[in-house]
Amino acid sequence: MNEATQRLFFAIWPDASTSGALAMLAQQVAAESGGRATAPGNVHLTLAFLGDQPSSVARALSAAAARISAPAFDLVVDRVDSWRKNAIAWAGVQSVPPPLLELHQAITRSLVVSGLEPDERPFAVHVTLARRIAAAVRRPLAPPLVWHVTAFTLVASELAAAGARYRVLSSWPLVAKT
Ligand code: ATP
Ligand code: MG
Repeated sequence: MNEATQRLFFAIWPDASTSGALAMLAQQVAAESGGRATAPGNVHLTLAFLGDQPSSVARALSAAAARISAPAFDLVVDRVDSWRKNAIAWAGVQSVPPPLLELHQAITRSLVVSGLEPDERPFAVHVTLARRIAAAVRRPLAPPLVWHVTAFTLVASELAAAGARYRVLSSWPLVAKT
């Protein structure tokens, strides 16, 4: 890999209490599914994956992200599910809040103005909890976990001996409800 590039993605990063709750859930779901739990500090919701990008693109993306004005919202994480194709178990929502779609669309526009091609696949709202699962898991999460989303972030994914390590590069606030 070219040293001047970084592997980037936009994400929603959990606050400490949500991160702790999701990490505990990841442990449970990993045990249920026979998978490997996401490391506690790594739990996140991906908004857009950008891949390896030079610093010029990172700067353009940051400038575009700084212009986004979208509302803060609550994400009610109320289900656990899994994908057979990539052997991942994840946490998700029964209903996607419109402000999350609005944020996703605004970020997609930021990619386009920065010269990147957005993912053509539909936005799959999920928080990866466990990888390399042996058995499918699918159940409601009761009581749900209510995640107060007040910002979005640009993150660099760095490969460490123990796997991917994520570093938040910048965060931009969402507009508080009045
Ligand atoms: P590793 O690939 O080393 O197992 P990882 O998947 O956690 O670790 P990355 O591949 O850097 O780390 O991915 C960062 C984030 O972007 C993760 O949330 C991942 O699910 C998501 N992601 C990675 N590749 C894609 C892709 N091609 N399309 C959409 N999202 C992706
Ligand atoms: Mg990956």
